[in-house]
Amino acid sequence: MSVKICIDAGHYGKYNRSPAVNGYYESDMTWKLHLLQKKYLEEYAGVEVITTRKVQATDKTLYNRGACSRGCDLFISNHSNAVGKGINESIDYVAVYHLVDDSTTRVDDISKEIAEKLAPVIAGVMGATQGFRIVTRKSGNDRNGDGMLNDNYYGVLHGARMAETPGVILEHSFHTNTKMTLWLMNENNLAKLAKAEAEVIAAHFGLMKKRDAENAVTEYTKIAEETVATVEQMRNYLKAKNPAVAQSVLDMIPLYLSEGAAEGIRGDIAFAQSCLETGNFAFKGSAVTLDQNNFCGMGVTRRGMKGNSFGMPQLGIRAQIQHLKAYANGEPLVNPVIDPRFRYVSRGCAPYVEWLGIQENPQGRGWANGAGYGKKILAILNSITSTKA
Ligand SMILES: [Zn+2]
Repeated sequence: MSVKICIDAGHYGKYNRSPAVNGYYESDMTWKLHLLQKKYLEEYAGVEVITTRKVQATDKTLYNRGACSRGCDLFISNHSNAVGKGINESIDYVAVYHLVDDSTTRVDDISKEIAEKLAPVIAGVMGATQGFRIVTRKSGNDRNGDGMLNDNYYGVLHGARMAETPGVILEHSFHTNTKMTLWLMNENNLAKLAKAEAEVIAAHFGLMKKRDAENAVTEYTKIAEETVATVEQMRNYLKAKNPAVAQSVLDMIPLYLSEGAAEGIRGDIAFAQSCLETGNFAFKGSAVTLDQNNFCGMGVTRRGMKGNSFGMPQLGIRAQIQHLKAYANGEPLVNPVIDPRFRYVSRGCAPYVEWLGIQENPQGRGWANGAGYGKKILAILNSITSTKA
């Protein structure tokens, strides 16, 4: 589902100066606020935000601003209110306006619902001493009989309504009141306000923050997937890294793919892990030797331990694949278990390569202790998959 929202800055240029605080113009405040609302709304997934005007100094009639919202799910017009000509310190409340008609329509119902959700939140964030009011106005007050509400203040909502968009006018208390004018001149306050308003709107439409919406699967590299690298890429990578690599090692590389495919595990990830664990099969300074057919440091739980041995390369690779599968998911093994450490793994605790490192694993479990263990494997994997076949 995609939600489209149209936001309006109530006035343009230098308009509606505060009698209480020098330098405050309603037009400047609403311009800043509506851009902040756009910014915070765009932190949500599946939302498109448009504004009624591109340039602060340019006017557009009220009706046309509302009409900009055609095709949108919500229209918001931002303001601060005024009472009389001078300073009035006692009037301090948030007002949210929406239109109603004699016959209730879906658009009017949504406008009302959103008005009722926004008003108390805005009053709360602003700390308005008189709280909030929800004000309903009749639509269709067409004095000239030309289908428009002329210079009427609510023309902006009328324009939205004619475009079949639910709409609200937000009056962010009064700029005839010193306390609230100073509050609205503080950009941190405007950010707080815009964020809270975006949260209400997002909750109404059931929107999720982008980072929550992005499934972890797309961010992390799954172990139980189809292999990406080819045998040629793995061979060429290894020969480049270790020109003295044993022919027996080059010959056994296809086993990573066949053993991986048998269990639904990425064989190229297992191979990249072997490159890391054996120093590109040079076994330099390694506790394990080539003849053990142990290519992943299996059973080397302490420095200097010799680790497990396997009768032939295929079995060593199979044990490694089985061990990866133990971490990747809870699926049963296809081949009989030969991994001597299979039973020690909390099944499925590391579905992603990134989580194979204990320090990065959310449960504090994993294959290895060293920081960034999974990232090291992925760096090798990336080199392999970008190697020419
Ligand atoms: Zn206004």
